[in-house]
Amino acid sequence: MAGVFSYESSEIDWCEDNYKHSENVVEFFNTMSSFIFFIISPIMLYLLHPYAKERNLAIHLVWVMMLFVGIFSAYFHMTLSFVGQMLDELSILWVLAVGYAIWFPRRLFPSFIKDRSTFSRLILVVTVATSVSSFVKPTVNAYALNCFGLHMLYILAIEMRCCTDQKALRLAKWSVALWILAISCWISDRFGCGFWQRINFCYLHSIWHILIVIAVAYGSTLIAYLDANYEIPYSLPGLQYWPCDKLALGLPHIVLKGTTKTLKRC
Ligand SMILES: [Zn+2]
Repeated sequence: MAGVFSYESSEIDWCEDNYKHSENVVEFFNTMSSFIFFIISPIMLYLLHPYAKERNLAIHLVWVMMLFVGIFSAYFHMTLSFVGQMLDELSILWVLAVGYAIWFPRRLFPSFIKDRSTFSRLILVVTVATSVSSFVKPTVNAYALNCFGLHMLYILAIEMRCCTDQKALRLAKWSVALWILAISCWISDRFGCGFWQRINFCYLHSIWHILIVIAVAYGSTLIAYLDANYEIPYSLPGLQYWPCDKLALGLPHIVLKGTTKTLKRC
């Protein structure tokens, strides 16, 4: 049993050389780059707070879970242990499940589901069952991950086809570009390692960590923005970038130009 916690008990080993910079850290740069989660997540929690306060505080769970992804990712790359791998993969499933439960459009719920709390409870049951069965058969997690992720992507694509909001369209384009770039780094590190080792550049998985956090910030803000337009339209949601809104540079977030009071007055 203790074996699952031991160093290198996972079957996965990324391209970076092991124990190159420290005898306690298996993959030094992959571990260090996981700390990007601890920088971006608190900023996003702060930036999205006005929207979460108006819509539902449960929205904060997405970036709270992202903090856990960072913790488990750092632990996994530090040890390459089987438990580290499981925690890293499962925390990603939980981020997707939380996003799916809170942002899946209400109008697309199946007829037997009446409200969001029933829908969320159903997703919770599926996610707990998947997490437990992953310890017996790890591929179950990958299937559930893809189901949540691809379904959200499909709905988002349909939504964007009839969208005329230029700011939302720009955010969508950047989100797609960042996701493609991030996934290319992941794939290239995994399957083209020989080449990267020959040119002595084994940092693509570290770059993936950085890109994927930014891609999640872009993608989730886009989904949140569309959600805000449906669920809290009276608050007049808009898109802004921090720290530089003029150049649309930095982290996207939602600003509410109206308040509940404006609605009541009307
Ligand atoms: Zn990683």
